[in-house]
Amino acid sequence: MRSFFSTLLLLNWGLLLVLLTLALGVFYIYDLVVPAVRPLILFSFVLIAIFGTFYISTNIAMRITDPLATVEKKTKEINAGDFGVELSSPDIRELATLASSINEMARRLKLQFLDLTVEKEKFNYLLQNLKEGVFAIDRNHKFLFLNRNISETLIQKNSQFKEFAPSIKNKELLSFITDKILSGKEGKTEFQDGLHFYTARIYPIKSDAMVQLYIGVISDITEDRQNQLIREQFFQNASHELKTPITSIKGYAETLEYKLKLQPESNERKFLDAILRNTDRLIRIVEDMLTVSRLENHKTVLNLTDVSLYELVKNVSESLGVLYSQKKQNLVLEIPTDLKVRADRLLLEDLLVNLISNASAYSPEGASVIVKAFATKENNLIQVIDHGIGISAEDAERIFERFFRVDTNRSRKEGGTGLGLSIVKHIARLHSGEVNVAPNPKGGSIFSFVFPKK
Ligand code: ADP
Repeated sequence: MRSFFSTLLLLNWGLLLVLLTLALGVFYIYDLVVPAVRPLILFSFVLIAIFGTFYISTNIAMRITDPLATVEKKTKEINAGDFGVELSSPDIRELATLASSINEMARRLKLQFLDLTVEKEKFNYLLQNLKEGVFAIDRNHKFLFLNRNISETLIQKNSQFKEFAPSIKNKELLSFITDKILSGKEGKTEFQDGLHFYTARIYPIKSDAMVQLYIGVISDITEDRQNQLIREQFFQNASHELKTPITSIKGYAETLEYKLKLQPESNERKFLDAILRNTDRLIRIVEDMLTVSRLENHKTVLNLTDVSLYELVKNVSESLGVLYSQKKQNLVLEIPTDLKVRADRLLLEDLLVNLISNASAYSPEGASVIVKAFATKENNLIQVIDHGIGISAEDAERIFERFFRVDTNRSRKEGGTGLGLSIVKHIARLHSGEVNVAPNPKGGSIFSFVFPKK
């Protein structure tokens, strides 16, 4: 195979040689022929020279343009995703190298294309077979993708590439998605559709600070919700059923105590005291269980009034005064006297009693507890800061669960029921707020209750 340069040189030399040979021939026979034929010989020579040059030039051009045209056609085919047959190798070396590079590129692209197709199929298979419903909405508010696990009662079938708003049948889901798309924020909601309960989450996918895509996930939580309802129902029934017998045990035990007039040091007296002590504990547990059931029942109506926080905490501190003085602890209030919060007074009192009594129970003798409160532009914040035993990060996630105690013995000794923080969590939720715990840098814990002003 020759290079383009040597082919060009060779053909030109060939042409020159032919023309020279012809010129020599013409020169040789010029004097031998009759003068009348001489112009014809010269004319023929010129004609041969012109056509010869033309032929050679066309030949050279075609040797280049033909393979180039094939290369151009092939690149267009590759561009269109058709990797088809390979280019044959042209005679000219430079073009042969180009053709082989293009063949190599086509082979590599074909492999990458195959890999991508397999990856896409795998991803598609995974998305389609997820338990959750998954969808994607593009910047033009059209569904890009929907998997088959989205119930038809929520989003119409075959909604791909259609506007999301007319395709979503459930009003709550529609208003949630519209709200999140307008604000460009992620979010989560729970909603009901017929007899089913769902959670929906939406996440904006950003690139160059612009939202390019919204990914949504819908989970059917009906079974969890039903289990939760069964648990709540059981909890509620158990507390109601326990209340009467315990009250009657307490009544009989008190009657016995009154009638028997036992000696203070006698065993019978100790047994009766134990019965009364444990009955009181049981009564506290049942009362807390009833409170949790009432709060969980979602039917609790808040009686919102403007509450002077300083006065409320002062009252609570007075009612817990015995507890604090027994342990020689100090309760410090850092609350502006004019701070008024809009809340249910009785529930807020319950919340504070639980947090402030816990702060005492889980702090050593002589420790101080601070109750701090202030308002920001949108929220009220109440903090109960103690210098007690503290809570590990692992336990902090679970202490708001019913009956969870870090140290059961200590909780029992302190007269705890394991339900106080569960009540606190429910009261916080009813006020559209939340309660959380963080470690106190000076040792102990900080419980914070944040709730909106309005
Ligand atoms: P309890 O009646 O046992 O105090 P709570 O629901 O009020 O139940 O609290 C749950 C558990 O959280 C407690 O048993 C205790 O282990 C932990 N806890 C609550 N408050 C504090 C605190 N201020 N410091 C350390 N641990 C605490």
